[in-house]
This record gives sequence, structure tokens and C-alpha cells, in this order.
Amino acid sequence: MANEQIPTSSKSREIKVKKFKKIPIFVVENHNDILELVLPALANNYLPFQNNLLIHFDSHPDCCINRQMPAETIFSRTALLENLSIENWIIPLLYGGHFEEIAWVRPPFAHQIPDGSYKFFVGNDHKNRIGVSSNLDYFLSDGSYINETELKNKKEVKLIVTEIHDSFNEIVKEKTFILDIDLDYFSTHNPFLNIYPKAQTYEKLKEIYKMDKNYDVNDPSSLTKFVNERNKQLNFFDTIFQHMAQHGSLEKYKFNDDASLREKFERTKELIDCLCHHYSIYDIDWFIVNDAGCTVDDELHQLPHYESSEEEIKEMMTKFENFLRSLKRYPEIITISRSSHDDYCPSNQVEMIQTSVIKALQNVFAEELKDQPTFWYKNSSNISALELVEPRIKQICHAHNCPK
Ligand SMILES: [Zn+2]
Repeated sequence: MANEQIPTSSKSREIKVKKFKKIPIFVVENHNDILELVLPALANNYLPFQNNLLIHFDSHPDCCINRQMPAETIFSRTALLENLSIENWIIPLLYGGHFEEIAWVRPPFAHQIPDGSYKFFVGNDHKNRIGVSSNLDYFLSDGSYINETELKNKKEVKLIVTEIHDSFNEIVKEKTFILDIDLDYFSTHNPFLNIYPKAQTYEKLKEIYKMDKNYDVNDPSSLTKFVNERNKQLNFFDTIFQHMAQHGSLEKYKFNDDASLREKFERTKELIDCLCHHYSIYDIDWFIVNDAGCTVDDELHQLPHYESSEEEIKEMMTKFENFLRSLKRYPEIITISRSSHDDYCPSNQVEMIQTSVIKALQNVFAEELKDQPTFWYKNSSNISALELVEPRIKQICHAHNCPK
């Protein structure tokens, strides 16, 4: 399967969509690992190749973009899997045309994007970077805004941001969809809050990474100016922390003396000195320090931190089950991400939440589901995700258009 090309859309049009005989539940640890199943399912026509809907229950939108990944990576499954991580696995699927709509169902305590329905374009710029034409703060801070006129290979997509409600059929309509649940939807930590606390790292990162949002949202040239500046900063932080990871000190770091970055450079140096004073150089993960910084550019849109009580989780679970019951159509695939190793979903709650979510799915979808969920995070064999989920390769076509 290595480097297998995902077929082009023209090829896929001739091929009949097979669908899974029964709906699989695919459980992973890191959210981007759901692609281990989703990409081969697309390539092997278990899902329509294009224009699907993703219903994404999560405390996070996961809609950042990997700035270092060339757009054509989307055509190589292996390269794509290697380049994506928990916060940036969705937009490339929109760029590839596999999804045309995402509904981010947020818990009451997550506010990174305001509720609403947003249409914008996804495409690539002349440097072959994937970007979006949306002027939402979320994309501007991530440096992923690109003026629509600069976008090539662009596709219009829709992002819906909403809390849970039981009238999703307006969104689902005739669409084939993946139901995707991050268990941190029910209870979440901000794992960076307590990062290297002796150096007050989180507070200092806030000062270092913040950027005045002095743009006019209706003026594309002002947005472009802001995003160019933001990307310059983010690239600058990348190089500093990359240097620290390689050399363990800034002695040989060549600062290019860009006046606009002078203050950031001084403050970053101060933080690095403070970290090295309080911690052994072998205990500091400089990439995590940079990752933490990238999440704190403004107070309003920080990562949520809310450990729900057992009672609150139960209430959310009831609403979740009601939502499932209200659907007039079945999902093609159900994906679940535990997100507990990196401390998003609290480790003392993750098993309970997972069991309850699977129970709710079984209560509602009953015999439409495969007998057992596939626990990909426990899998140590070489068997591919698709083979694990659908061992017999010959399948009869089975419609999930649920006439409930
Ligand atoms: Zn997630």
C-alpha cells in the first residue's frame, strides 16, 4: 500500500460506491489516526470519493493547516499520514474534495470559533501552500488565510459551528457522512496550561506569541498584510525552537535583526534562559514549548480547559443519544478519538466516556452497527485498518439510507 495514489475523481465516478455492510466504529488514540481508515475507505469506494459531510464532535475545531506541507501531499496517502497531526487533519480533506462540509459540534465550554455557518474557499497559493479564504480569527491566527483571488484549485466549502441540538437533519439532508467523536468533547484539559510551571512558561508564552489584531476584516489587503506578518513570526519561532532542539543553546543562533521581531527575540531568549535555569536541558521538549505558544495568541480563543463532573458527562451523553436518535440517516463510518495520551481527554475519565459513547451508539444504531468496534489503538498487527474493519473483501451493496 506504500505510496499508493488515491484515485482521481474522474476515475472514481465510474466506480460504484460499495458502502460498509454494517457501520464500523473505529477507535483511535490520536485524532488524525482516523485517516488510517478514512483514506483507504475513500480510495476503495466504501465512501463516495467526494463531497461528503463530516460531523465532528470535539472540544477543538482541528482545522489548522500544516504550513510546511506542500499541497500535492494530498495525492500520496503515506506522505499525507506522515504530515498530519491532531490539530490539522481536516482541511487537507476539504482541499482534496473528499469533504465539502464540516459541522463542528462544540461543547458549551469551547469557543475557538463563534457559532455560525461559514462558506469559503480552500485552495493553494503560488508557493503551493494550502490555505482558506475565510476571514475568521481562527484562520488568521493560524496564518492560513489566503486572499480568494490568490487561491488556485479552489473549492467552495462550508463550516458550520454549533452546539448540539436534535435537528441535524437540515445539515445531513441527502449527504453521506462520517460521524466523528473526540472523547474530549465531553471533558477536556488544556494540556499546555501547566507546562514547565517553574518558569511560568504558559504566561510568558502568552506575552511572546500575542499579536495585535489590527486588521480590517473586510479589507483583503489588510488581512493579507496581517497574515504575512503572522507567518513571519511563526516561522521565526519555528527556527528558534528548532535550533534549541538541535544545539541546546542559542549561542550560534543567527538573528537576522528584523526590527519587527527584535522584542519577540529578546523575550524568547529570556524564556529560554529561565527554562534552562529551572530544568535540565534534557527534560525540555522545545517543540512542545513552540506548540504551546502557537495556541495562545489571544485570550479569547485559547484552548478550552474544562473537566466535566460525572453528572455533567451523563447529561451530555443523554443529549448525544437524543441527537443520534433524531438522525434520519445513518453515518457511513463512526470514528472515535480518545485524545488521552496527550492529556486532552482526562485520563481518569477517558475509559468511562468511551464506554458510554459506544453504549449510546449501540442503543441507537443497534444491528446496523458491526458487532464489535475496531480498537485501532490496541492493534499491534500489520493488518491494515480497512482489512481489520472489513476482512472479507467481497461485499454486497447495502444502503444505509435509514428509513426509520
Ligand atoms: Zn480532535
